[in-house]
Amino acid sequence: MRAMMLEEPGTPLRAVDMPVPAPGAGQVLIRVHACGICRTDLHIVDGELKEPKLPLVPGHQIVGTVVATGEGAGRYAAGERVGVPWLGSTCNTCRYCLSGRENLCDSARFTGYHINGGFAEYAVADYRFCFPVPAGYPDLQAAPLLCAGLIGYRSLVMAGEAERLGIYGFGAAAHIVVQVARFQGRHVYAFTRPGDIRTQKFARDMGAVWAGNSDELPPEELDAAIIFAPAGELVPAALRAVARGGVVVCGGIHMSDIPSFPYEILWGERVLRSVANLTRRDGEEFMALAPLIPVRTEVKSYPLEAANQALDDLRYGRFNGAAVLVISDPAEQDRLV
Ligand SMILES: [Zn+2]
Ligand SMILES: [Zn+2]
Repeated sequence: MRAMMLEEPGTPLRAVDMPVPAPGAGQVLIRVHACGICRTDLHIVDGELKEPKLPLVPGHQIVGTVVATGEGAGRYAAGERVGVPWLGSTCNTCRYCLSGRENLCDSARFTGYHINGGFAEYAVADYRFCFPVPAGYPDLQAAPLLCAGLIGYRSLVMAGEAERLGIYGFGAAAHIVVQVARFQGRHVYAFTRPGDIRTQKFARDMGAVWAGNSDELPPEELDAAIIFAPAGELVPAALRAVARGGVVVCGGIHMSDIPSFPYEILWGERVLRSVANLTRRDGEEFMALAPLIPVRTEVKSYPLEAANQALDDLRYGRFNGAAVLVISDPAEQDRLV
């Protein structure tokens, strides 16, 4: 099968041919139709996340069709469409797993990080961590739901009941969260890199009541803010923008160092927290909610072999919404399996 492989962090992915993996016990073999690109993939390729398996096939927003099942992977039958998210497996025995916090599992394994992911024609996944994909979504539009959607949703839940919600960094996750937040009757204030007029317009088009530069204060005090951009200086900026009792949620897996700031901007019972990974429950809730709203994703598609270009375009913010690799045409599936 064709795959894009990370051999050494800090170097581009390499197009390779490799054997189609065989599904082990509890695994499904998936023919990958589309795989979303996430900022986390960029952090892995750049070497900012330190423990990838190498060589590695990245990609953790997989939409595809089950083509074979290993022993005991009974929930899915061949031909079913599934999504594979970042959370690839957990131990089911640690105190986090036993208390409904499997996202924090001591020995969690992640797709496209510890386990080969979806920048390839086929992938294997633990069936217990796959989700059915809502029927109304084409493969391309569904892919960003698997991480941008799920992590965005978890971040939104962590932001609490906030009526005025700030979002710092208006990429894939934010363009989904703004739709959920509006559906819930909230007002969204979008912050972008200073001067990024194109993204500010995109945010307003997607329903933000205000969009501006991340070094500005919004016209009203916020009740909560979510930071998706990996820039530590946004933490004090967001704390300054939220009212007393407000929550600032850091939604990304990696962030540059946070500069020191006066206690005064945290005082007043403001809360600063991160969001780590996802639970299967987040996935089930969000996959049920998305078609009701319905969440629409804006997608820029690339062929598999253009994965490096897609990562680069993400790095420099060259598109609105989410980037997705298109890997196979579902119509060709029968011929190719
Ligand atoms: Zn992700
Ligand atoms: Zn565990």
